[in-house]
Amino acid sequence: LVAFLLYLFYLVAPIAQLIQGATHVQGGLAAAARIRQIESLPGEEPADGFSGRVDAAPAGVTFEGVVFRYGDDRPAVHRDVSFTAPAGGMTALVGPSGAGKSTVFALLERFYERQAGRIAVDGRDIGHWPLAELRAAIGYVEQDAPVLDGTLRENLLLAAPHAREADLRRALRLTRLEDLVTRLPAGLDSMVGHRGVMLSGGERQRVAIARALLRRPRLLLLDEATSQLDAVNELLLREVIAEVAAETTVLVIAHRLSTVAGADLIVVMEDGRVRATGTHAGLLHGDALYRELATTQLLTRPA
Ligand code: ATP
Repeated sequence: LVAFLLYLFYLVAPIAQLIQGATHVQGGLAAAARIRQIESLPGEEPADGFSGRVDAAPAGVTFEGVVFRYGDDRPAVHRDVSFTAPAGGMTALVGPSGAGKSTVFALLERFYERQAGRIAVDGRDIGHWPLAELRAAIGYVEQDAPVLDGTLRENLLLAAPHAREADLRRALRLTRLEDLVTRLPAGLDSMVGHRGVMLSGGERQRVAIARALLRRPRLLLLDEATSQLDAVNELLLREVIAEVAAETTVLVIAHRLSTVAGADLIVVMEDGRVRATGTHAGLLHGDALYRELATTQLLTRPA
């Protein structure tokens, strides 16, 4: 009987393990599918079809007299927004809460249509871009982007599952994640997320940027994390943003003075308008609101 029970145990244990593993893989895949659903909207071609594109240049952004309200009965969120973010380099959007910064991103991705004015990406009105092409050209990194249960590799490849190894290495290098990969027990195949290694806030943000870069976006929209980062991670993120800006135009909703100060152009928004544009040094002298935001550290809102 003992022998039979032992036999049963050896038979059942691996099966149980298999089932457990399968459930886990399924969880990861379901999560991956969800992210792809989010990234690939109706009518959009699969984002991975664009991986490996080498000829795409950074795309500039122009807003000219943009007027927008979220509903006919709602107040205008953009009353008159005009600015030009040059191709390549980093443009930072700053301004008080409710000024309309996130709405700039929503309009660029054509989640909503403006009521007046012109919005152009790479010199072409966004209404003339095929929607799939426009969205494939844009990478978006949300604030405090989630890391899903699964391996680091799965997390990185969510939006571009067929990305080449060379692209993966490039994204890891650009986002300074190579050290993390070396440190993890099974490298890229280590489990991360709540059932694996917990990543720091800065690491999570860098994984999210790497994920977006794997699609080789011509324009990267980045909503900077407001959660507290340690000094090392804050410095790393600043370097990452600066280096990425050499390959793609970066438009960042900036919450940290350290990010803003390094931007090539700063757009100060207030109450649905652009009240000033310039560099950190120029705006410190030339714009009272910017001076106030910078000196009172309002750009670095706590979480
Ligand atoms: P914050 O720094 O707080 O994120 P913001 O400058 O990014 O602010 P927006 O998020 O663009 O500002 O919001 C501007 C205004 O539009 C706010 O009054 C907000 O409540 C409103 N708004 C934003 N998104 C929507 C939406 N989907 N539907 C209706 N109103 C919205």
